[in-house]
Amino acid sequence: MRCFSCDNLSIEPICQECIKEFLIPQLIKKEIGNLEVISFFQYSNTAEFIKSKYSDSGYRVYKFIAQRYFQPFIKAYVESFKDRKIYLIGVDENLNREYSNIAILTHYGAKENRAKALHNVLKAKNKVQYAGKSLEFRLENPRNFIYSGPKNIKAILIDDTVTTGSTLEEASRVLKRNGVEVDFALTIANAIEGTDY
Ligand SMILES: [Zn+2]
Repeated sequence: MRCFSCDNLSIEPICQECIKEFLIPQLIKKEIGNLEVISFFQYSNTAEFIKSKYSDSGYRVYKFIAQRYFQPFIKAYVESFKDRKIYLIGVDENLNREYSNIAILTHYGAKENRAKALHNVLKAKNKVQYAGKSLEFRLENPRNFIYSGPKNIKAILIDDTVTTGSTLEEASRVLKRNGVEVDFALTIANAIEGTDY
């Protein structure tokens, strides 16, 4: 097949040269209220991969990122606890096309380790689009998440990008009210880049 990014021939969906150029994980940490958010990359380097969710290529790009980065990270974290079940909860596993890019992250993130993906349990009632909108707009238009999964569990919250962090913070608040303890949130990219929030 061809590399999603440069179109050169490649066995993997993203070739070795593009991985070296764009996908060396940095593990960026941000505190948003009481929530720690860990991101593998800066958004500016990875925007084209994130935006692949709007095309048919998104499935293989997200699967590749989930297997290569989410899966080993989550495996190492889960294995640091002996008998503690950890669930992966995606933020609003909506279908973009025939797939949910977030469900790909939780599904493959939980493969070959003791974490368990809970699909479609955290849905936004408010489908407002946040892209390009200010923090003020986001706070005035909360997602109004509904949680329908099991209670009294521990979880990692999964999303593709953290921007202002308002969505992840709201999601984590709703989960907490429902007896879900969020250890941290994990995203592909961080688009905050030093902005105050
Ligand atoms: Zn390439």
